Amino acid sequence: MTVNNSAEETKKSLNFIEVIVENDIKAGHNDGRIQTRFPPEPNGYLHIGHAKAICMDFGIARKYGGVCNLRFDDTNPVKEDVEYVDSIKEDIEWLGYKWGNIYYASDYFQQLWDFAVRLIKEGKAYIDEQSAEEIAKQKGSPTQAGTDSPFRNRPIEENLALFEKMNSGELDEGSMVLRAKIDMASPNMHFRDPIMYRIIKIAHHRTGTKWKAYPMYDFAHGQSDYFEGVTHSICTLEFSVHRPLYDWFINELATGEYRPHQYEFNRLNLTYTVMSKRKLLQLVQEKLVRGWDDPRMPTICGFRRRGYTPESIHNFIDKIGYTKYEALNDISLLESAVREDLNVRANRISAVLDPIKLIITNYPDGQTEELEAQNNPEDATAGSHNILFSKELYIERDDFMEDAPKKYFRLTPGNEVRLKNAYIIKCTGCKHDEQGNVTEVYAEYDANTKSGMPDSNRKVKGTIHWVSTVDAIDAEVRLYDRLFIVENPSEDERDFKELLNPDSLKVVQSCKIESFAKNVKSGDKFQFQRIGYFCVDPDSTAEHLVFNRTVSLKDSWSKAKGK
Ligand code: ATP
Ligand code: MG
Repeated sequence: MTVNNSAEETKKSLNFIEVIVENDIKAGHNDGRIQTRFPPEPNGYLHIGHAKAICMDFGIARKYGGVCNLRFDDTNPVKEDVEYVDSIKEDIEWLGYKWGNIYYASDYFQQLWDFAVRLIKEGKAYIDEQSAEEIAKQKGSPTQAGTDSPFRNRPIEENLALFEKMNSGELDEGSMVLRAKIDMASPNMHFRDPIMYRIIKIAHHRTGTKWKAYPMYDFAHGQSDYFEGVTHSICTLEFSVHRPLYDWFINELATGEYRPHQYEFNRLNLTYTVMSKRKLLQLVQEKLVRGWDDPRMPTICGFRRRGYTPESIHNFIDKIGYTKYEALNDISLLESAVREDLNVRANRISAVLDPIKLIITNYPDGQTEELEAQNNPEDATAGSHNILFSKELYIERDDFMEDAPKKYFRLTPGNEVRLKNAYIIKCTGCKHDEQGNVTEVYAEYDANTKSGMPDSNRKVKGTIHWVSTVDAIDAEVRLYDRLFIVENPSEDERDFKELLNPDSLKVVQSCKIESFAKNVKSGDKFQFQRIGYFCVDPDSTAEHLVFNRTVSLKDSWSKAKGK
């Protein structure tokens, strides 16, 4: 797959599903009624790919005055849990959507069972006692017809009795399945007597042990759409090949004119991450990340904890658009969407991640003063706050260099820089410890260069940030990087767990922040000037502040790649 890092121009025009919907409304299909559904399987937390589907399903309903229902596709009790049901609801609401009703595919188990019995009675379904391997072998290939099962022509009465038995608990898992009797030579492999029911002897999170025979996706999804009155059943491209079977079952079931229709768009795939719930679950279970909401995870709750806003995710999804072709989307497009959004939203504060002391030797001992700092230069209504200036400050260790190359415009002996929101200072030297490490940096300030003073507009080449040692507060900062070291871990030959980036989390305990950050609460978002966007982690307490880096100010990765 090639990486698609261009934002497609789909925002201004309608996407192809919207075109279909508008045409259907014009033609008066289903009396102009629009009903969609978002159908997650509650077997994991939602990821950013699901967000793309959510924006489509709920977005269509919202735009065209229809309704979008939430349907839990809970037809496989093995992997499903209420924990996931709750998280799915929370994430959809966070994205700004409200469902009409909540449905569960398990609510239709009786109706589906009755429909299956009807198909058996009509000679359109049979019980197959072969193993999964035997059935697979007989499937043939797209160019070669399959072979009939020896059980294909079992008498109807026998099929009915065995189907009852499949659900009674007396049979082992895998001992038999119910198959639709369609066409073992069909060019569409999904028509070669697809499996409708299998035995699973695990309690279901909603129906308990009532059922032992469970419907397959293909036998549950379309019928659920039909029972609910869905008009546009929108899903991802891999289901295109299932659509004829979707239509086949519904045609067998439907009594009137109404039919739901399935439409497919391209999945969201992101570089440097994986999107399969099975793999994400493995990362969580094997503690390779700190949980589903680890800020490195591509889950919606992971992005939320990382400091992403719902708006930034919407903007990203608008930019990549909906097409009929699979692509791999560049994660830097998502990062630039959150940068753009936080740029107008986040207050600027100063934080020093790797502090070294700077002493302004000609500033009076014990003196402090309050200087004004704009909260957000991008937002005139954001106001300002005061920062404390004093003789001793913290600056970033790498903003000082004793023997600097010519083009180094930060602090080096003899050089002038501006301290952000404060004075111009001139570096006069530094002090070393016994090993020769720099322990303190010295400078003199020019009192006339403060804002409002005669020389306030004097230009110097570099500006650095700082915090006062008098009121700085300590914080832990968690710096995140890509979770994987390769662009497309899913297509790599190596196991995905071998491709994890060992440096995806760096914890910095030494951070000093200006006292404006004293009363922050979980989720608050800031720009740490010159460093990046950060948000307060839920682990944060009044005694021990914890910040997550949402994204750095600049895209260091595309620079490194020479883009
Ligand atoms: P997995 O196979 O990893 O379990 P899934 O696709 O089966 O994931 P579901 O819970 O069945 O997950 O998905 C619910 C809806 O979200 C489906 O309509 C599906 O098409 C859509 N969806 C899932 N992944 C993506 C993705 N990466 N991009 C866009 N839509 C997606
Ligand atoms: Mg699925």
